[in-house]
Amino acid sequence: MSSEIGTVASEMTYGRNEWFHYALAEITSGGISLYWDLNYNAFTLEDPPFVFSVLRATELTSDTSAYTAIAENLEDTYSYIDSSIPSIGKWPHYYYMIKLETDLRTVYSPPVMLYGGLSDRQRALARGIIRRALLSPRHLQHFACILLKRKYSGTVCSCRDSITEEVLKPDCTECYGTGFVGGYYQEGSEKILIVNSPLNSIETFDKSVKIGSVTPAKMAARFSGLPPVRYNDVFVHPATNRRFYVVSSKVAAEIHGFPLIQELELQLADYKDVIYKFSLEG
Ligand SMILES: [Zn+2]
Repeated sequence: MSSEIGTVASEMTYGRNEWFHYALAEITSGGISLYWDLNYNAFTLEDPPFVFSVLRATELTSDTSAYTAIAENLEDTYSYIDSSIPSIGKWPHYYYMIKLETDLRTVYSPPVMLYGGLSDRQRALARGIIRRALLSPRHLQHFACILLKRKYSGTVCSCRDSITEEVLKPDCTECYGTGFVGGYYQEGSEKILIVNSPLNSIETFDKSVKIGSVTPAKMAARFSGLPPVRYNDVFVHPATNRRFYVVSSKVAAEIHGFPLIQELELQLADYKDVIYKFSLEG
């Protein structure tokens, strides 16, 4: 019984099922942002390409026929912004499903609710937690970064050993050492990182300092919202083109299991690192 309840709870909160590791939605300045990730163990090498559609309904149901596709043929991405939602005014009562078509199957995420379906009271609490986390450290360094989510699936790079799956060229410019062509997915909207580190490591953001003369620095930072950030994801600071690997991440505040604040440890990539060869879009 308890495992059944656990399954329902994780479906409600994370949009998790046999196929999806998570499917989450939050309100951002551009609309409703959706993020998802697959449970790669559930798929075979014959499944790709992974082609997604975003479906939307006005009632909470797992009946797929109640949903309308608002985006189709999404490839090479694990996020989508539903910008048809007015960003001010009434709380939007929309529900989403992510549809996945592969060469072998068509599967769906569980219904996705904003913030995992928090109650009004929980939402007010969540807003308070986020506001405090974002506004209180006005005197602390913060900067807008672009998140690159590391690929864990897709077209396998020719530099990867087909038997051991080892990446044989860590400086490969096809996969940037990830083993999958393209290497990373660039997230659409910038994230505001708040630096927790002591001041001495913040000097690395001085634009007048040439990148080649900077000693790789580790720093602690936090940000609010989605998506879940993992080990080896990358943040790019566009103003200085400094690039940081995530070396650890944890959820520092959550409500009803939904992540609100994530705490990260970041490592400035060595200026010779292949990650600097990755070109940003836009
Ligand atoms: Zn490669």
